[in-house]
Amino acid sequence: LFVVFEGGEGAGKSTQVTRLAETLGGQGREVVTTREPGATPVGQRIRALVLGAPGSDTPSPRAEALLYAADRAHHVATVVRPALVRGAVVVSDRYVDSSLAYQGAGRTLPVDEVSWLSSWATGGLKPDLVVLLDVEPRVGLSRVAARGEETDHVEAESLAFHERVRYAFLDLAAADPKRYLVLDASRPADEIAATVARRVEEMLVD
Ligand code: C5P
Repeated sequence: LFVVFEGGEGAGKSTQVTRLAETLGGQGREVVTTREPGATPVGQRIRALVLGAPGSDTPSPRAEALLYAADRAHHVATVVRPALVRGAVVVSDRYVDSSLAYQGAGRTLPVDEVSWLSSWATGGLKPDLVVLLDVEPRVGLSRVAARGEETDHVEAESLAFHERVRYAFLDLAAADPKRYLVLDASRPADEIAATVARRVEEMLVD
């Protein structure tokens, strides 16, 4: 089973990835938690290129889209697919929808082209479930600011950019409702974790 968490900045994805892994691990299942960009050594180098050091040169939108696609291709080939083949549950912090939202809607590249690039990179691997943690950018960005880490690339973008990203995620969910669980990220973490666990457990028994 391949579960992906998506959402804007400060939505609480990494907390929920950990919570789900703890729940499933506690049931004796093999769980692989992972993330994009940067889950592998190659991915770490790509992450450094795309997210950059403060004030460093940033890749152009198409170059950025290719770098995220390269990270994803390597991630799927070396982490996600092998784990799925073993029968593990894979839980990823971000996947294809992040590219459709950030590189597509955010950077205003044609979304169908970004989608094509991602499906080429992944060999068409789709998640079984996407949990979208929906957060108003103003709220999410203030959470990130409070954390005080790696915020330069986030602050470099306008509120309008983050609004486009948010609505792109919501549109993707609306277009394929069976595959998505859309949750209000302002709800308590325990409540979100319980809702996600229930949905995933249902999928595992089916
Ligand atoms: O999820 P995480 O905070 O590690 O992501 C780092 C940053 O990379 C995000 O803030 C987001 O702005 C950016 N990103 C992106 N396009 C993606 C994935 C992430 O612009 N496809």
